[in-house]
Amino acid sequence: MSEPSFGNPQIVEIETDILIVGGGMAACGAAFEAKRWAGDKVKITLVDKAAMDRSGAVAMGLSAINTYLGPKNSPEDYCRYVSADLMGITRDDLVYDVGRHVDDSVHLFEEWGLPIWKEMEGGRVDGASWQKAGGKPLKDGGNPVRSGRWQIMINGEGYKTIVAEAAKKALGMENI
Ligand SMILES: Cc1cc2nc3c(=O)[nH]c(=O)nc-3n(C[C@H](O)[C@H](O)[C@H](O)COP(=O)(O)OP(=O)(O)OC[C@H]3O[C@@H](n4cnc5c(N)ncnc54)[C@H](O)[C@@H]3O)c2cc1C
Repeated sequence: MSEPSFGNPQIVEIETDILIVGGGMAACGAAFEAKRWAGDKVKITLVDKAAMDRSGAVAMGLSAINTYLGPKNSPEDYCRYVSADLMGITRDDLVYDVGRHVDDSVHLFEEWGLPIWKEMEGGRVDGASWQKAGGKPLKDGGNPVRSGRWQIMINGEGYKTIVAEAAKKALGMENI
């Protein structure tokens, strides 16, 4: 059997201040936040080995977001949960920070177009229907449908596409 050949790939040199390797969920978030904090004076470049719209573990979409605190849970509660779940082998300072900021990220996902299910007076309404039923986004007090204490339900077929689009828009296509 012959060895696979990669031919003679073109080498492109790019000067950049920040290089983000990978274009999955973490990298898209890093790209968006880096741009938000660093502004236009810093050049940020993202490289993914695959097509970013459908790359990584979220490629096919998801049916839930694993963590949303909402008004009834605190970052301290979240630290206790993560520590118990991982038999105490955790860094409380880092987990606390995730707990402090995760809801802001979920609010951004919703703003970018991710449909999130809502509990409403008449019962549960899926992410595509709550607006027509007069519901509110999470950041304005909308009540998510939960599966357990921490997880919230979404119509997440396009989750990665939505987050990748926000990262591309933040960096500009010439930097992807
Ligand atoms: C089956 C499954 C179900 C899940 N369900 C849920 C769920 O319901 N809710 C939830 O919140 N989370 C869920 N998760 C977890 C969630 O998908 C991951 O936590 C998240 O995608 C991890 O993001 P990441 O950026 O670290 O990695 P990934 O999203 O996997 O991104 C890795 C990226 O790196 C790129 N890459 C790899 N090697 C290179 C290289 N050499 N050069 C350039 N680029 C490279 C890849 O192309 C990819 O874009 C699930 C995960 C799995 C596997």
